[in-house]
Amino acid sequence: MRALNSICVFCGSSEGDDERIVEAAVTLGKKMAQQQISLVYGGAKIGIMGKVADSVMQCSGEVVGVIPEFLKQKEIVHLGVHKLITTTNMHERKMKMQALSDGFITLPGGFGSLEELFEVITWSQLGLHQKPIGLLNVEGFYDDLLAMLEHMVHKEFLKKEDYKLLLVDKDIDKLLEKMKAFKSLKVSKWLKKDRT
Ligand code: AMP
Repeated sequence: MRALNSICVFCGSSEGDDERIVEAAVTLGKKMAQQQISLVYGGAKIGIMGKVADSVMQCSGEVVGVIPEFLKQKEIVHLGVHKLITTTNMHERKMKMQALSDGFITLPGGFGSLEELFEVITWSQLGLHQKPIGLLNVEGFYDDLLAMLEHMVHKEFLKKEDYKLLLVDKDIDKLLEKMKAFKSLKVSKWLKKDRT
């Protein structure tokens, strides 16, 4: 079993229209705090991002926000977090979030959340990290996306083994268990050689 001391959560800067999704974000925050897993996230006060952060803090957990300077106004920076890291741009933000985390969980969100999720999957696919990537498919929010990914496997544009890099569950405890048990087989030989 791998230790998960910190998890980066990608999720919406909106709250959506479904109270059950907001509740799932709050429950995730609570469970992370209870299991002493610190939260690394986008540093905003708004949307379900803010809900997860508030929930972790209400349960005495640790929160690290990572936000680019230009987004501080737009996304309303959360000044209550334990540590706030300001970056110069989005790329630096994602690098920082990746470096600070032992794994990733994506909750419902929009383009921003999908971009962040797919970036960490592609980095894993390339063997650039071996960290677990979880998708919390609460209320079947991601059913259509998963159907699309299966279609990509079926059409042989996505390798089955790469699809398996995405750990999916609708239940938070089960998702965390899958992440703790995750063993990456992806250490690319050419990348290893290239990096030396
Ligand atoms: P969204 O899922 O669109 O509500 O966005 C959620 C988070 O993703 C927000 O913190 C955004 O700042 C971030 N985000 C938006 N666009 C991008 C992008 N192109 N790359 C990385 N993160 C982004």
